[in-house]
Amino acid sequence: MCGIVGYLGNKNAVPVLMQGLKQLEYRGYDSSGIGIIHRKKLKIVKEKGKLDQLERKLSNNLSAQAGIAHTRWATHGGVTTENAHPHVGPGGKVIIVHNGIIDNYSTLKENLKKEGRVFLSDTDSEVVAHLVEKYIDLGPEQAVSKALSFLNGTYGLLFLFRDHPQLIIAARNGSPLVIGIGKDEMFVASDAMAFAGYTQNAIFVDDGEMVVLSQNEYRIINRQNNVIDKNIEELTIESGRHSKENYAHYLLKEIHEQPESVFRAMGRGGRLLPDFGTSLLGGLNMEKRDFFDIRKIHILAMGTALYAGELGKFILESLTRIPVEVSDASELCGTNPIVEKNTLFIALSQSGETRDTIGAIQEIQQKGGRVLGIVNSVGSTVARMTEGGVYIHAGSEISVASTKAFSNQVTILSLLALMIGRTRDISLSRGKELVEELKNLPGKIQSILDREDEIKIMAKRLKGHSSVLYLGRGINHAIAKESALKLKEISYIHAEAYSAGSLKHGPLALICEEMPSVFICTSGDYQEKTVSNIQEVKARGGKVLVISNYADDNLKALADEIFIVPQSDELLSPLLTVVPCQLLAYYTALALGRDIDQPRNLAKSVTVE
Ligand code: GLU
Repeated sequence: MCGIVGYLGNKNAVPVLMQGLKQLEYRGYDSSGIGIIHRKKLKIVKEKGKLDQLERKLSNNLSAQAGIAHTRWATHGGVTTENAHPHVGPGGKVIIVHNGIIDNYSTLKENLKKEGRVFLSDTDSEVVAHLVEKYIDLGPEQAVSKALSFLNGTYGLLFLFRDHPQLIIAARNGSPLVIGIGKDEMFVASDAMAFAGYTQNAIFVDDGEMVVLSQNEYRIINRQNNVIDKNIEELTIESGRHSKENYAHYLLKEIHEQPESVFRAMGRGGRLLPDFGTSLLGGLNMEKRDFFDIRKIHILAMGTALYAGELGKFILESLTRIPVEVSDASELCGTNPIVEKNTLFIALSQSGETRDTIGAIQEIQQKGGRVLGIVNSVGSTVARMTEGGVYIHAGSEISVASTKAFSNQVTILSLLALMIGRTRDISLSRGKELVEELKNLPGKIQSILDREDEIKIMAKRLKGHSSVLYLGRGINHAIAKESALKLKEISYIHAEAYSAGSLKHGPLALICEEMPSVFICTSGDYQEKTVSNIQEVKARGGKVLVISNYADDNLKALADEIFIVPQSDELLSPLLTVVPCQLLAYYTALALGRDIDQPRNLAKSVTVE
């Protein structure tokens, strides 16, 4: 979550670090800080709140050739200036910034307190500064190494030393870390985006590695204390200078980017093979004949990606007839997952840094399972640790709430389903039909966006309520879940999704004038039964908003508001019905004046458990 950046070089470190933090700002954070060596002393400036509050606190004439900086997403200790990073050792000899959680911090803290050490914050991170300083006489490298040997948990850590102004040490265990190698300058950050515009040359640090950086040199040391060689990769880092263009929020821009981003997921058509009625996904590291052996598919994900996975289940099961299980990755790790030879695991993650998903992948790989990654961020941890995978090519998603990444994940799962399905049950003609349907999606999404004004009217119906139900059957149940999540995330209105069939088994008790329902009701298998459920709600005085893909008079008469998306193959209809639901959440949040791109308490990539 949040981020860390370090800089060593001839430039003034202060503006370089501030720019780095700004380029990571979209990830969501609650406080920030910067630590430098200024006139031979370690100086820390930190503040709770947004980066401009930190900037106001920094005096203009502050300069340094080395520094470390942090945006915090509090896990241990409230959102206060004292708890913001960097944290300093008691003798003022070392400062640290930390992403992650030190699981055993309370035992360590108790022991350090018994030695008479006084703590200035409530964070878990501060123990690391104390430990390094306790061993500082061994020299910085040995002191860090010793301190790390006591830590359980996850960390991306940077250390800056008062008596070694030309040195930064970094360490990684479970939180992302990447070195940026410039000309006479070095960067180290939780995301290469932090040094976008300065250098493209990067080395990804892996778990258990420690990095010793000076202005012109780097050394990477592994767990066995050996210096190791790693490849320098040339990254195409998208410029950190994002722009909302003419949109009021990144979220709205990203919703509007979906025709183009879904097209990109299809490789601008290059991932589709119309003549063979199938798709082509390079990077899976699997031969077509390997598909014959798959007996089960198991998808792991969190948040919006989890709902993309649930949709994927419907699409994959329908097209491949292979049973699919979808798991909340955070639950999977702790439950001793069953890993069988012929199960194909698929990890879905926008950032590729989702800690819970990474934990689940590690557990599955330990048990010998094969995991494919479907991710957005090129070079991310999930992309590097999985046996093969597919990039969704959604482009940078800046808004914390995910929209275009969701659509691209579903698109990729559809392409995968088509590819595996064509080796099994699907005929050439059905394959061709689906390819045609996929090709038409971007245009249909655009036609929905062109009617955005209709959604603004719908949003007026929701904004005065404190709770909303989202209902659908089958494939539309997954869309109901994703849409309820979107409303919660950005409008802070409580929303819950149920299968429309489960309504009468409990939630119907909630129906009254104050509890509106949003039904996703498309033509096909679930249509009639869903309409009956709408009737049940209306009969009890509930207001009903309907997202549908067919317009019959009965449905129109029942709905208080209705939005009709274009017709499509039933399996691909979620890629259309989700769009008005995203807009509905957006316009409701807008009417309520919420911080749409950085909703309270949330962060973009969840790198802690
Ligand atoms: N656990 C640390 C804290 O609460 C670091 C959180 C972070 O990753 O920003 O301060």
